[in-house]
Amino acid sequence: MAALYWFTQDLRISDNKILDGFLASDAPRYACYFVNPNWITTSESAMGKARWLFLKQSLCQLKASLSEYGVPLLIVIGNPTELLPALAKKLKISSLCFSNPVGFNESKQISAIRKALPNIMFKDHWSHTLFDQTLIQDIGGVNKSFSAFKKTLEASAVIEKLDNSAIENTQCLNDKAWLNESDITISYIDSLYETSQPLSIRANNQEIIGGCQSGLKHLKEYFASGAISHYKQTRNDLHGYRRTSLFSPWLANGSLSPRQVWQGIVRYEKEYEQNDSTYWLKFELLWREYFQWSAVEQGVQLFTFKGLSNSAPKTSFYPERYAKWCSGNTPYPLVNALMNQLNRTGFMSNRGRQIVASCFVNELHLDWRFGAKYFEKHLIDYDVASNWGNWQYIAGVGKDPRGGRKFNITKQAELYDKDGEFTSCWGGYENTLPLDSVDIAGWPLETQ
Ligand SMILES: Cc1cc2nc3c(=O)[nH]c(=O)nc-3n(C[C@H](O)[C@H](O)[C@H](O)COP(=O)(O)OP(=O)(O)OC[C@H]3O[C@@H](n4cnc5c(N)ncnc54)[C@H](O)[C@@H]3O)c2cc1C
Repeated sequence: MAALYWFTQDLRISDNKILDGFLASDAPRYACYFVNPNWITTSESAMGKARWLFLKQSLCQLKASLSEYGVPLLIVIGNPTELLPALAKKLKISSLCFSNPVGFNESKQISAIRKALPNIMFKDHWSHTLFDQTLIQDIGGVNKSFSAFKKTLEASAVIEKLDNSAIENTQCLNDKAWLNESDITISYIDSLYETSQPLSIRANNQEIIGGCQSGLKHLKEYFASGAISHYKQTRNDLHGYRRTSLFSPWLANGSLSPRQVWQGIVRYEKEYEQNDSTYWLKFELLWREYFQWSAVEQGVQLFTFKGLSNSAPKTSFYPERYAKWCSGNTPYPLVNALMNQLNRTGFMSNRGRQIVASCFVNELHLDWRFGAKYFEKHLIDYDVASNWGNWQYIAGVGKDPRGGRKFNITKQAELYDKDGEFTSCWGGYENTLPLDSVDIAGWPLETQ
């Protein structure tokens, strides 16, 4: 009987325990990946070009890596709840391997598939997080502030040590041969995007290439550069080479695991230096961890207007303001520059995300979920837990004990873009427009 590996947010070969067992098995082996049809429609929820390109590169590298083990990767457009049971029957599989998701919709899919395939052995594990669910349950879950969560973990939890081979490029893919990896589904999706020009992704003056091989290469180069030694001083910069780690795109689709990154930091601390900055990068990975487990705990509440709060945020329906925010035409040049950067590259710094999200909620008074959805469409590092969790935090409907975050845009510009270099570079001064084109003078009714 055959075995099937279902890839989701774990598009990598190394630090993937269940995959190790699967690859070592003598049974006929197949792998599959499902492209959500909503990602490729012409509607608003379709993936932005940069996000698709990053995913495409990740799938091509994975396919090439798997082919070295003689495992074909089937890339299918459709809903796994409907298609996976049929595929499993057709391939006569006896076991299905996968990594547990943190998202509500994805978890629902797994439950439905388990029901549809009662005679199949399910082999699952937690590979998108530093810890597994048992440990999180043992420390009492995430029903606490981030500080309390971090304190408990730092006091009691041990991150499993990986051997150095898990963070080395042990599998050497022939130059860029993986780029020629042909796949009928990928070619079809490619054809839906207007340009045939090979678009490359650049974030903070660095070329970003999706895939587990490229992720490990990026990891190695980041630590070799020594940039981590001053991470704490540069982490809030809006752009610039190696100001932050730029691990998020690979972490988001699992081309890199958080444990590989953690292990890279630990190794750097042992071999070179341990300081506030190396600690701070670990601290950020714990923030990521907090959002991941909060997503598991919150379920569907992660996407609801009130989130975890008891009262609804004060918003209204302003389609014009929303359109201006998306296209970078607000009265705020810094916000416009940041949105232009997102629209052109699929990336934005953490500080930038906080500024534009705060503007969306506090200046434009829009429903935060539309901002989160727009990020989902464009970010090459889109991650359900980190995205929706951070938006909730800023909108004041998450677990933030301070109840929301408001960033003063003028002050932020003075602090992080004093000479306007970032704003000019991304065309932020070019199309500033008033927030509303109809104001009180355009009000059609006279009062008595
Ligand atoms: C409104 C909003 C939406 C966001 N959406 C996403 C998203 O979809 N995907 C995503 O990965 N991150 C998201 N973030 C978090 C953060 O902005 C990015 O992780 C970070 O900018 C990625 O760049 P980096 O890898 O260079 O980060 P670094 O500063 O180098 O941090 C290292 C790693 O720590 C983690 N991390 C850092 N800050 C956060 C944070 N606030 N929350 C969760 N993890 C964090 C990331 O995995 C990151 O790769 C969002 C933040 C905000 C305010």
